Amino acid sequence: MNLMDCHSHTTNSPDAHNSVEEMCQRAMEIGLYAYTITDHCEVNRFYGVEHYTDTPNEYDTYHFDIDFEKSMSENTLYKEKLEGKLRFFSGIELGQATFDIPLADKIVSDKRLDFVIGSMHQIPDADDFAFIDYNKYNPAELMERYFDEILKLCQWGGFDVLGHLTYTLRYMEGEKGIKVDMSRYDEKIRECFKILVENGKGIEINTSGLRQKYGKTFPTLEYIKMFKEMGGEIITVGSDSHRVSDLGKGIKEGLQLAKEAGFKHICCFKERKPVFVDIE
Ligand SMILES: [Zn+2]
Ligand SMILES: [Zn+2]
Repeated sequence: MNLMDCHSHTTNSPDAHNSVEEMCQRAMEIGLYAYTITDHCEVNRFYGVEHYTDTPNEYDTYHFDIDFEKSMSENTLYKEKLEGKLRFFSGIELGQATFDIPLADKIVSDKRLDFVIGSMHQIPDADDFAFIDYNKYNPAELMERYFDEILKLCQWGGFDVLGHLTYTLRYMEGEKGIKVDMSRYDEKIRECFKILVENGKGIEINTSGLRQKYGKTFPTLEYIKMFKEMGGEIITVGSDSHRVSDLGKGIKEGLQLAKEAGFKHICCFKERKPVFVDIE
């Protein structure tokens, strides 16, 4: 199997633990065919706290403008350093692009980027799903609003793959044990996939859920199948590791799911263009 990890974070993300050097070293040790770093870039907290009117919670970090610049310049340096040793690419995980589309457009126009994951970690007027007080919300309504925002993100489409679809379940089902009837959202997910397929965009199989309480990928096999059946061709697999020990975790399982869904190739991205690689 050609193992590629297309989603991981370094110390250029506020919540990760290892340097670019350490992560790349590990990628070579475990024999990845290709490796992409995708540090966080949260559009709604790109500037300093003084730039925003909403009240920050104690977990919020700001100034992703600084993280982004650090990430891009360091990744670019390592791309040169690692030439001939590792297929290494410089990406970002762009969070909440829909909150400020002109800014999102400006960020993704950076020529140093090989790859952009479009993610939603929160919806307007609510905290990050990691920090929400779930007692204050109706779960079905929260999911509805999440998929509405995902739809807006797809309509914008300035990314290469849609990040960890159903991320909300990591917290709702995985941590809080809230049962979610996903079938209510199938129509909306189909609408999202239709737009992605029409615009030549992909989805990722995010394997972080496999090592968390949730125990499944984001999204699960049925949605990977749905994407394939609707004509989706571009799929990436990523561990979403925030430390060296998680790098490459679940990638084999992710590839297995892609195969089961009917995919023969997976992708990594170079200069914002998909590179198709045989799964086997
Ligand atoms: Zn994420
Ligand atoms: Zn991530």
